[in-house]
Parts: sequence; C-alpha cells; structure tokens
Amino acid sequence: MIDCDYLVIGGGIAGCSVGYFLSAQARVIVLERESQPGYHTTGRSAASYTTVYGNTAIRALTLASRSFFDSPPPGFSESRLLNPLGALFFADQAGLPQLDALLDDVRDPSRLIRLTGDDARALVPVLGPQVVAGAHEIVARGIDIHALHQGFIRGLRVRDGDLHTNSEVRGLVYANGSWQIETNDAVYRAPVVINAAGAWGDTVAALAGVRPLGLQPMRRTALTFRPDDGVEIAHWPITVEIGEAFYFKPESGLLMVSPADETPSPPCDAQPEEMDIALAIDRLEAATSLRVRHVAHKWAGLRTFTSDRTPVAGFDPVALGFFWLVGQGGYGIQTAPGLAQIAAALAMDRDVPPPIVDGGFRAADLAPARLHSTLGAG
Ligand SMILES: Cc1cc2nc3c(=O)[nH]c(=O)nc-3n(C[C@H](O)[C@H](O)[C@H](O)COP(=O)(O)OP(=O)(O)OC[C@H]3O[C@@H](n4cnc5c(N)ncnc54)[C@H](O)[C@@H]3O)c2cc1C
Repeated sequence: MIDCDYLVIGGGIAGCSVGYFLSAQARVIVLERESQPGYHTTGRSAASYTTVYGNTAIRALTLASRSFFDSPPPGFSESRLLNPLGALFFADQAGLPQLDALLDDVRDPSRLIRLTGDDARALVPVLGPQVVAGAHEIVARGIDIHALHQGFIRGLRVRDGDLHTNSEVRGLVYANGSWQIETNDAVYRAPVVINAAGAWGDTVAALAGVRPLGLQPMRRTALTFRPDDGVEIAHWPITVEIGEAFYFKPESGLLMVSPADETPSPPCDAQPEEMDIALAIDRLEAATSLRVRHVAHKWAGLRTFTSDRTPVAGFDPVALGFFWLVGQGGYGIQTAPGLAQIAAALAMDRDVPPPIVDGGFRAADLAPARLHSTLGAG
C-alpha cells in the first residue's frame, strides 16, 4: 500500500500542473496509464495562447495564467514558455458580423485591433482577395508545451512528489476516510483523489461509483506540410477563419493546418480521418494561394467539453474526497497555470491566490454541481 495526501489520475497537462502546485504543501503522486505522460491530448495540441478565444471563464483563466507563463519560478524551465506568434482572425464579406462581434466583445485595443483586408494580407500574403477585414491579436503567443509539461513534472519531483507512468487506475473504493486506488501493479491510499483523466474523466468516475458529468470528447484533426519554396512563413501569426472553418500556423519550418473539426467521439487513442484531412486541405486552398503537395504529418486528438464549455475544478458534491479537474476543451494548455492554482487551492480548502481572484475568477463557475442540474435527476 503506497500512501500519499493527493492521488492524481492522469499525467497530461492538467494532472501534472495541479500535482506541481499541490506538492508545495503535500505529498502527491500522479498516475499515468501510458508510458509517455503527454501521449494523449496534451501532446497533440496547436500550442497557441490566445486571450480572445473561448467563453468569459476561459478568457479569465487564460489571462490569469499569463504571469506564470511570462515569469515562471526560477529553475522551472531552461527555455521560454511563450514564443512570439500573434493571432490573425480574418473575414470575407459574410464573416463581417462575426468579426465585428469579436471586436465589440473584446474592446481592448491593447489586445485586439481591427485590420483592413490589405492589412491582413500584409501579415499573411497568401490570403485571397475575398478577405475584406481582420482582427490582429498582438499578445497571442506560441506555447512551448514540452517545456511547460516537463517543468511541472520536474518541479513535482523536486518537491518529493512523483509521477508513475504505465500505471492504469482500474478500481477506486472509498472506506474509512480514504480512497483505495488499484492500478495494474500497485495499490495506493489517499484521502483525496483528483480526477484529471481528460477524455476518460467520466470513465474514472464510473470506476469510483461517482455520478458522471456528461463530458463529451470531440475529435480535432491537424496536419503539417512544407509550403512551396519562396513562401516565407516564419513570422506569420496563427491565422484563423473568423467562423473557425479552419486555421493554420507556422510550426518548426512547416505549416500546421486544422479544419477545426469537433466530432463527438468515445474516449480513445484518436486517429485522423481521411475526410477531415481532405476538408482541411480544401478549405485552406480555397481561401489562400497555398498548395498542399505532400502531407508531412497528420494526427487527431480529443478536446473534452462540458455542456457549458467551461472546465470543472472542484470537489464532487456527493462523493467525499473526489475532486474533478476536467473539461478543458480546446484551452487546457493556455489555461493550465491559472486553473491548476485554483484547483490546488480548492483541493486544499485554501483561498485562491489574489491575482487570480482579481482576474474575474468565481469558484461557482467551475463547480461540478452546476452540471448535475443540467443532467437531471439520478
Ligand atoms: C488538435 C488540438 C489542438 C489544440 N490546441 C490547443 C491550443 O492551441 N491551446 C490550448 O490551450 N489547448 C489546445 N488544445 C486542447 C488541449 O490540448 C487540452 O485541453 C489539454 O491537453 C487537456 O489536457 P488533459 O491533461 O486534461 O488531458 P490529456 O493530455 O488527455 O491527459 C489525460 C491523461 O489521463 C490518462 N488516463 C486516463 N484514464 C486513466 C486511468 N484510468 N489511469 C491512469 N491514467 C489515465 C490518459 O492516458 C491521459 O494521458 C488542443 C487540442 C487538440 C486535440
């Protein structure tokens, strides 16, 4: 029997970030089924940080994460966590109302400024003549996910916490004030279990006899290709069609493109469908002068949403010692530092740090109980 204060299930960005913050005060073990902790969604993301993406709660969590990204604790990472990128949202005539709505919603020229079609083409010259306007988010960045994830794991270990890979949780029982957690090769005991199992959040709840939250994993596809000689992509922003029909961004000398698909899926090792790859290429080639001659790499990952598209961080209202940290959707990397600090404070029954409260955070927005009412009785 291995004892700890907090047992975290899932070694993606969610589990490792909350484990890192908890380990400053408590003994933490993170369990990951795969041999690589970023094997699922964390290792398959577009790695962007944008403050105008998602609903109000997501935007607050993203802004609350910025100071950690900009100034992580000494020794956290040898490289910078954020890199120059910027984001360009572009519109044709039909997309203008959506572009106006975004600019109206953000209303902060230090974050988002309106561009003409020609301004947009000055940034990304391959955009076609149908592009009549854009919005430029100067503060958007690329995230070094490997540095962020490894920083959390290293920090967890330095503080006497641990990450056990190849450890699949197969059973959870609550008795005498503690959870007993059985994996393929060990038994653990902890008063608090943190469910950070991503697409498998409801599966882990079912193992523990806890009522599920109705989490919905959605497949999203991406591919990379090398643009034709002479197309200079190094300084392009992430470039997003305002209706999110597709987006593209530079990635290590290649261009990554995604059809921004959201196809419901059971939790699984998601694989790209040929139809979605073709859709991405069609949309890109229709809107730009780019041509995809050879796909270098293609993949898919599961973005897991709650019914209100806001993450969950909080104790289950019924099951003692069962803490949820799930439903990060398409924003789990850019919100990780802020969300994990909130989750760690709630799990330890402490006050949430002031900079995060000041950023517009309300614990009730993240509470699991809000989802039970939408799921109905039983
Ligand atoms: C194509 C794509 C683009 C994206 N772009 C962005 C972006 O630009 N910016 C951004 O912020 N976010 C982005 N995201 C979303 C982001 O990647 C996710 O929100 C985030 O990775 C979720 O992290 P997680 O730790 O919850 O999930 P995961 O990384 O999936 O981790 C959960 C882990 O739990 C483990 N697990 C499950 N069950 C068990 C068990 N029984 N026992 C032990 N371990 C278990 C799994 O093996 C898995 O490793 C994107 C996602 C995709 C797919």
